[in-house]
Amino acid sequence: MKLHFKTNEKGNLDIGGADALELAQEYGTPLYVTDEMRVRDNYQRVYQAFSNEYADFKIFYAAKANTSLAMMKILEQEGSCIDAVSPGEIYTALLAGFEPERILYTGNNVTTEELQFALDAGVRMNLDSVSMLERLAELPGAKGTKISFRVNPMVGAGHHDHCITGGELSKFGIMEHEAVEVYQKAKELGFQPVGIHTHIGSGILDPEPFKLAVQVLMDVAGRVHKEAGVTFEFIDFGGGLGIPYTPEEGLLDIEKFAAEIVGLYKDKLKEHGMNNPTMCIEPGRYIVGDASYLLTTVNTVKQSYRKFIGVNAGFNTLLRPTMYGSYHHILVADKPEAEATENIDVAGNVCESGDLFARDRPLPEIKEGDILAIMNAGAYAFSMASQYNSRPLPAEVMVCDGEVDIIRERETFADLFSKQNIPMRLLK
Ligand SMILES: *Cc1c(COP(=O)(O)O)cnc(C)c1O
Repeated sequence: MKLHFKTNEKGNLDIGGADALELAQEYGTPLYVTDEMRVRDNYQRVYQAFSNEYADFKIFYAAKANTSLAMMKILEQEGSCIDAVSPGEIYTALLAGFEPERILYTGNNVTTEELQFALDAGVRMNLDSVSMLERLAELPGAKGTKISFRVNPMVGAGHHDHCITGGELSKFGIMEHEAVEVYQKAKELGFQPVGIHTHIGSGILDPEPFKLAVQVLMDVAGRVHKEAGVTFEFIDFGGGLGIPYTPEEGLLDIEKFAAEIVGLYKDKLKEHGMNNPTMCIEPGRYIVGDASYLLTTVNTVKQSYRKFIGVNAGFNTLLRPTMYGSYHHILVADKPEAEATENIDVAGNVCESGDLFARDRPLPEIKEGDILAIMNAGAYAFSMASQYNSRPLPAEVMVCDGEVDIIRERETFADLFSKQNIPMRLLK
């Protein structure tokens, strides 16, 4: 079993030095619990792996994986930069203390108002289309700014079709064969194009497609360098580094991965006669994915056509199983190492049949009142949560050396209505 968790002396699940059962008791469920040190360790592991191979290296944490302010603050302290995909994420990053130079805005189908917001914020702009370039050029203060382009290298990879962001069906980026022309146009419009970017997908455990994308992007960069006379200050290969979700999946050998990617990078720099631009990657999931658990309480054990374990969270709390069919390993918090005794379904409390955390899952005996810990709930978990079924959003706590802080209060019913109005005419 390669999934990472700890058991304390009572035999309960330990999260950052706190007992999962006590956390559930004290803060209620459903509850997101983040182990601060795990985030820092994950960041340092990937940072060291790459910077040992190539000193001028930067991580742009992909904020959309987990945008909690406390999480952003940890990454700010670690020295990360931010990959932001919306004005809201730019705003969050600034609030967490990131200087604008440390934020790269990679928007998709961006409005002109959003472009103006990013420009005013002073963040780096990574453009997705010629339309975006032309509209940016019209804005006061845009000329002369440093920009980059996202390129579709015609290579894609990911754990689900929805998460493949390169290749023929992808809506992202400019085409690789139009790159020279687009960079030329950017120069003509008075911009300083200094970067090139790609992001091929999410949840990649096989390094091959990523390596292929690195080669393609470097060749595109080489052409743009030679034919459009662009000197690159940075080259960004995006995120997508996967983590194991099932006990059988292997870990990405990050040292080996980094050595291979940097090796290709250096070879291609030499081949195309480019200087030494900053090398960037944008991991989201890899840094935060396994640092959080979703604690939920079993309220119903039901034997109908099959055996169902009913819990007080649902796809409103954690969407990935329903949206992508994703596997999330489930531990029983007071016996995380117990052997499985039967195959059961774990179902949420949302009124839809697709609201399942696990189907036919081998699990130990589970009773009503037990606390389940859903693993790998740090990435695309709280950030995708909703109030569907009029359920207030859950609380989040962060643990460090056994010290627990609430980083997000549990919503109340009042929060469901805070932005709603009933027209006066309906109140007559
Ligand atoms: C989502 C995203 C990432 C991060 O993907 P992970 O799989 O979480 O590493 C990086 N870059 C961009 C542009 C993204 O949209």
